[in-house]
Amino acid sequence: MTESEKLFEDAKKYIPGGVNSPVRSFSNVEMNPVYVKKARGSKIYTEDGKELSDFVMSWGAIILGHSHEKVVEELRKQIEEGISFGLNHRKEVEFAKMISKSFGDGFSFRFVNSGTEAVMSIVRVARGFSKKKFVMRFSGCFHGHSDQFLTSSGSGLATLQIPTSDGVPEEFISCTITLPFNAPDDILEDTFKKYDIACCVLEVLPANMGVIPPKQKFISKIYELCKKHKSLLIYDEIVTGFRVGWGGITKKGEIHIRKFDGSGEKEEKIKVPEPDLITLGKVIGGGTPIGAFGGKKDIMSVVAPSGKVYQSGTFAGNPLSIRAGLATLCAISSREDFYKTLRQKTEQLFYVLKEGFFRKGIPVSIVMETGVISVFFSEKVPENFEDAKKSDTEMFKKFFKKLLENKVLIPPSPFEAWFLSVSHEEEDIERVEKAIESL
Ligand SMILES: *Cc1c(COP(=O)(O)O)cnc(C)c1O
Repeated sequence: MTESEKLFEDAKKYIPGGVNSPVRSFSNVEMNPVYVKKARGSKIYTEDGKELSDFVMSWGAIILGHSHEKVVEELRKQIEEGISFGLNHRKEVEFAKMISKSFGDGFSFRFVNSGTEAVMSIVRVARGFSKKKFVMRFSGCFHGHSDQFLTSSGSGLATLQIPTSDGVPEEFISCTITLPFNAPDDILEDTFKKYDIACCVLEVLPANMGVIPPKQKFISKIYELCKKHKSLLIYDEIVTGFRVGWGGITKKGEIHIRKFDGSGEKEEKIKVPEPDLITLGKVIGGGTPIGAFGGKKDIMSVVAPSGKVYQSGTFAGNPLSIRAGLATLCAISSREDFYKTLRQKTEQLFYVLKEGFFRKGIPVSIVMETGVISVFFSEKVPENFEDAKKSDTEMFKKFFKKLLENKVLIPPSPFEAWFLSVSHEEEDIERVEKAIESL
């Protein structure tokens, strides 16, 4: 038995399923999970003495590389100065200023401890502000594990709500309307007409069903309908915020996709209008637990104590997360070519994947934005989650195993994106190339 196997056996006795989050069990790839001993730069080191090139990167939370010296140094200082106060402190003001200013002058933010919390709170803000009830969302977009978001679009009918988890009463999701991503105009129009929509929440570039590009028409239509019906538009930028660029997609105002499938390679820019509200997380915590919700100040003023929408947290804005987040954003902004470098690395990986699978004659579709990429074993880039699920998951399993044999760890699921950091190097990408050759 390997050390990881032993640990997993023991874990199963004391933690349900042996893990603290389901995907970590590696059940999607029918393998034993790895146990991480330490991580540095682009590498993780397992309890079995293996060094792996990491493309999980804490599910996108790490963008500088593991244990970046500036982040570690700032965290050390904070530990000496105090771990948690449950009171106000200077750095949270600096951090809020830095993040808010990235979006211009009209935004404000509140910090919480996870993305799940951030989305729960922003929806409450939207309902409190609009005095409306219904939430529109899209299946395959992930917004954390609060009851109202554990739904799928079923057969694509807006009226049919299916909870995707036991323990969620139908009543709890009766105000959530779930549509397929990239839904056509008529379905969107009908749904806005039929329901009093408080807000429309989406990952404007979904990364939790693999990376799936939105159609220009879809993004523009949602914006138009939200304006027309006075519904609030919320971008969940927990993955994309400060990953695809400074301030995320909201600040860039566009998504810059490179994609490849059976019909060839294409570069595409999708214009993205400004949302009313956004959620952030992952990257902005520099690897520590964090979430943030915010947006236009007049809307955010409904949050208690200035308004009547309640939200609180013992650890909200905690000094460790704030300090690690500040260190991360400072490190990013001190390098003018940061996102350019990250994009070049992502493109390098894109071409290695594209050419490698071409040589092997294995049909594949690849989609990337800066710092994030995904591979589907399908002839065509999927348009939505229902489409993505038709890709060849057996081939994925085989690929995953070959990657591990070649010292590469990617997310152990065919529907998760791979993440890059600026610390990724030639060696990491060459290992991927070798793994494809050995398929
Ligand atoms: C990760 C993620 C969440 C949930 O964040 P947690 O910190 O895991 O609770 C929500 N939305 C999106 C888009 C995410 O990627």
